[in-house]
Amino acid sequence: MTYCPNCGTQVTSGTYCPKCGTRIPLASLDRGIDRMAGFTGKALERGVKATEEVARAAKPVLGKIVKVGKEGVKSAKETTLKAAKKLKEKG
Ligand SMILES: [Zn+2]
Repeated sequence: MTYCPNCGTQVTSGTYCPKCGTRIPLASLDRGIDRMAGFTGKALERGVKATEEVARAAKPVLGKIVKVGKEGVKSAKETTLKAAKKLKEKG
């Protein structure tokens, strides 16, 4: 977003202010993009770093949960099957 240096009107496109006709210097447009790129880059960098740290910290715990979860599901399935078989044999 760029603002007219003369009257402060927001200039969304073009190189001239729609209100007063002042030429918007390209440098200010570039500066806005640079500022946004810098901010986005920093935010992304921070986000990636945070994600990496969380992943590193959570990995062993998640591995345990997944292992236990799989075994739990398996044994639960087997128990259910055994119970179902017993019921079938009985009835
Ligand atoms: Zn203006």
